[in-house]
Amino acid sequence: MDNVTLVFPTDEGWDSARQAWNLAVDQQPAAVALPESAEEVAQAVRFARDRGLRVVPQSTGHTASPLGDLSGALLVKTERLRSVEIDPEARIASADGGALWMDVTRAAAPHGLAALAGSSPDVGVAGYHLGGGISWLARKYGLAANNLTAVELVTADGRIVRADAENEPDLFWAVRGGGGNFGVVTKLELRLFPIAEVYAGTLFFPADRLREVLHAWREWTDTVPDEVMSVGRFMQFPPIPDVPEPLRGRSFALVEATFIGSEEDGVELLRPLRDLGPVMDTFASIPVQTLDKLHMDPEHPVPGIGDGMLLSDLTPDAIDRVAELLSGASSLLSVEFRHLGGELANARPENGAFASVEAGFATFAVGIPMTPEIAAGVESEIAYVQAALAPVDAGRMYLNFAEKPRTGKVLFGDAYHRLREVKAAYDPEDLFKANHPVPPARGPRPRHRTAAVEARVVVD
Ligand SMILES: Cc1cc2nc3c(=O)[nH]c(=O)nc-3n(C[C@H](O)[C@H](O)[C@H](O)COP(=O)(O)OP(=O)(O)OC[C@H]3O[C@@H](n4cnc5c(N)ncnc54)[C@H](O)[C@@H]3O)c2cc1C
Repeated sequence: MDNVTLVFPTDEGWDSARQAWNLAVDQQPAAVALPESAEEVAQAVRFARDRGLRVVPQSTGHTASPLGDLSGALLVKTERLRSVEIDPEARIASADGGALWMDVTRAAAPHGLAALAGSSPDVGVAGYHLGGGISWLARKYGLAANNLTAVELVTADGRIVRADAENEPDLFWAVRGGGGNFGVVTKLELRLFPIAEVYAGTLFFPADRLREVLHAWREWTDTVPDEVMSVGRFMQFPPIPDVPEPLRGRSFALVEATFIGSEEDGVELLRPLRDLGPVMDTFASIPVQTLDKLHMDPEHPVPGIGDGMLLSDLTPDAIDRVAELLSGASSLLSVEFRHLGGELANARPENGAFASVEAGFATFAVGIPMTPEIAAGVESEIAYVQAALAPVDAGRMYLNFAEKPRTGKVLFGDAYHRLREVKAAYDPEDLFKANHPVPPARGPRPRHRTAAVEARVVVD
């Protein structure tokens, strides 16, 4: 068996090895492991444990910002584990722990199958599922996490464990919403759905119509079936060559939507919003795997400062307050509202730790910190947007949209107590450091540090 690749601060390639997708995050771990198999992940876990280092699992670093100090940790990046296999009969994708969404959606599409993918093609399948996973098909099929059929992970004792409804059921429950606290995920089995095409697109309106558009969209969301998932959004396109000319440097009020159904029915459903007279309309029947362009997310690493909230409702007053804030010059790139409900609200008994999303809408605000001054502006504007939405705060954060350090019931709800018990059973010494921690019940047991001195020698 080959040895897992370890990169240390004095090695060539250190800076690219430690880099997160979010370029605004400066990760400085003790070392980085780049495993190419589940066995190599297990080697990395044992290496860290024996030297008193913690283990930080990461597939892309999209949500690296809450991680904090990594100086006593081995960063285990699963980016070299990207194989995907499709079982078209069973409608299951088996994706490695470092697979990106584009790896899965493109493998599933030739079989006429769709995955519950995130809006961006290069979000990691692992981190997305561990935090819940809200896709363009979510109101119809629920959280992606609750459509997992099995997860393989390397646990704190260095074992490669398969968790599903029959094997290690507590662990299977915990990883479906409890984040990366329980091991390094090396494989996920996820359900696929027989959808080849959807009716989807974006209506673009001038940004000075934001208030009117958000009100109309919000009223429209009360009328649509679960087959419709949509976003109301303020967006400023940066003045960079990557952005197509008609959008470059301009601001818009947007409605993005996906309808699982025919074009004819989709046209009818969309009519009230089309009647508002958008300046651009991209709606069409499209291959389902191209939904990863709809939200216009960056498809390569960028610096970002963002944060989200779950909202009990998006009331007319809340819309007015946010539209007022965004009516002048803003450092924010995007402020979006995602319509939730439908299957997302169904806490089925077989679901995992994030059983249902008890909120009507999710919101996320983000900006690109090109300079320290812009970074400060982005931080304060996100705080203003969140303050404006405080009266409709659902009292719970969505793990995948939480980009500041948080823990406890605000992130994990009523599942928090049981998650801590599962953590105590599988990782009593708190070896795994996730971006949003679940500490073991009754506190972490002291860790073995037999080889810590040796580690310092190796690592310095
Ligand atoms: C541009 C963009 C678009 C997005 N769109 C959506 C969307 O449509 N819907 C949605 O729900 N979310 C969305 N998100 C949020 C996204 O789901 C989170 O950022 C998620 O954490 C990404 O997972 P990752 O593996 O890429 O990131 P990472 O930062 O690598 O992982 C986040 C955390 O997950 C855990 N983790 C990751 N990989 C592993 C592993 N192999 N084993 C164990 N633990 C692991 C770790 O605790 C890690 O700190 C989006 C984010 C961005 C930046």
